[in-house]
Amino acid sequence: MPATSSDVPARSVLVTGASRGIGRAIAERFVAAGDRVATLHRSGELPAGVLGVPGDVRDTASVDAAFSAVEAEHGPVEVVVANAGITRDGLLMRMSDEDFAAVLDTNLTGAFRVARRASTGMIRARRGRIVLISSVVGMYGGAGQANYAASKAGLVGLARSITRELGGRGITANVVAPGFIDTAMTQDLPEDVKARYLAAIPAGRWGQVEEIAGVVEFLASPAAAYISGAVIPVDGGLGMGH
Ligand code: NDP
Repeated sequence: MPATSSDVPARSVLVTGASRGIGRAIAERFVAAGDRVATLHRSGELPAGVLGVPGDVRDTASVDAAFSAVEAEHGPVEVVVANAGITRDGLLMRMSDEDFAAVLDTNLTGAFRVARRASTGMIRARRGRIVLISSVVGMYGGAGQANYAASKAGLVGLARSITRELGGRGITANVVAPGFIDTAMTQDLPEDVKARYLAAIPAGRWGQVEEIAGVVEFLASPAAAYISGAVIPVDGGLGMGH
């Protein structure tokens, strides 16, 4: 079994939605570290060295089947990253029930389905790392993003509850809260919104996907064994104090 650069034995890692953007960078990072990396994905091309398992985080049976497929190839999942997420922005008074529910179902309930399924093997192994990809918007709020912000704030309660339930079994659960990262999701924002955010970011630039991947890798590393229930902002200072 290959070892990582820090002599950590290769682990079975599952990242949801690694076809592009932040998830892709996270998967690539673990591959580079020598881990056995898989992704539950809906579409798109995957990075080299990543085992792709078709799935949809909105569907419990699909999540469970994807985990079983990964376990058959790579062994029980030791590190799981709930990254898959969507936006359906709109002003509160015009936001439909469907748009609210769809975002919650993917971003929050999807992460719950993934963490729940991962926890069974982690409890048995008495170790595991759960990382939930939230957003600065979860704490900061976002006009036109009531659904998205609520879903991303919910991840904090999820991670902290997992920490209280499973912290004694060698399992950590943490939240990474990216700011504005240069991906398809942010490229789709209206130009005036982008300009306003850029002006508010103390770092004066967008974040890069690799800057999220590095923090996720750290949270999965032995150095982070005593960090759990934390919210780690990676946002160039945009949300500080929240
Ligand atoms: P992208 O839109 O580039 O990628 C999202 C990924 O999630 C895609 O691979 C997509 O698959 C997958 N996905 C969406 N819905 C589902 C589903 N139901 N089942 C399985 N996979 C699904 O987003 P980013 O890389 O920008 O964002 C990744 C995460 O980071 C998200 O949770 C996002 O909220 C969060 N984030 C992003 C920020 C940013 O600035 N970009 C800032 C803060 C947080 P498919 O290709 O099939 O749609």
